[in-house]
Amino acid sequence: MRATGLAAISVVSALAMPAAALGPGDVGAAGTRQPVPHEAAHGLTPLPLAGRTVVLDPGHNPGNFDHRDEIARLVDVGNGRKACNTTGTATDAGYREADFTLDLARRVRVLLLAEGARVILTQDGDRPWGPCVTERAAIGNEADADAVVALHADGATPEGFGFHVILPAEVVAGTADTRPIVAPSRSLGVTLRDTFAAVTGEPFATYLGGGTGLMVRSDLGGLNLSKVPAVFIECGNMRNTADAARLSAPVWRELAAHGVALGITRFLTAPRTPPTTTNTNTRTTATGTATGTAGSGASNDAAAPTTTPPSGRVG
Ligand SMILES: [Zn+2]
Repeated sequence: MRATGLAAISVVSALAMPAAALGPGDVGAAGTRQPVPHEAAHGLTPLPLAGRTVVLDPGHNPGNFDHRDEIARLVDVGNGRKACNTTGTATDAGYREADFTLDLARRVRVLLLAEGARVILTQDGDRPWGPCVTERAAIGNEADADAVVALHADGATPEGFGFHVILPAEVVAGTADTRPIVAPSRSLGVTLRDTFAAVTGEPFATYLGGGTGLMVRSDLGGLNLSKVPAVFIECGNMRNTADAARLSAPVWRELAAHGVALGITRFLTAPRTPPTTTNTNTRTTATGTATGTAGSGASNDAAAPTTTPPSGRVG
């Protein structure tokens, strides 16, 4: 278990490592010394996510089941009022979404810490219920997170399977103004979708999103109230037999964690503007970065459906 995890971390590191990070000091033969940065010369190449902050938001809370009155309290999500939090769904065998999301978040945290990131969980099994969706958003904002990823599993009809990523719609209402985050969140979401599919083999959801693996929603407080790039990922459908088997398997959750961590790492290490050096090879466009993985699919997914699934499916 531990050995497997460490090996997989190395895979993520190798995949995530920008080519430019591998200086001549890393590959040069002994005796052929070349001028290299001090750190690289000592094998201390900075970790790819050093100085970056990631907030992981494990959806729901296992304790929500015992605090239904507290989580039913309505909170303001900008364009309306919603329940503070929900219990989430579960598999037919009783494996709860809230346990899945917390387990997955902890696995992702290990991987991102290994990349040098500062990682904050909105809840870590350390509170009896919640937090409310408003507080979850506030945690990302107050941390000035470079990326926020909310982790969920869906509770759709049993025939549907696959995963999807939820992107913030443009919402300007009350305290919500997602205009600054719509584009970077799309870049994050498309990158996450692509890495999650590649690493886990999980197909794009068959039951929504028109086969794009993407949804745009305006009804989620965690997205409406975010001031930093934020997406949700619904890792599978807990009501579907095959998805439930995967979601319930620790080895699959480890794979899923790598898919999530790699997406975050690629998003955060993609070349972006404004440049702080004279490098002018890349620039950011309205739909994402012009080069690198982060923006590769963004322009192809402009037609991701904007719909609101039946209420209560996602908390
Ligand atoms: Zn959920």
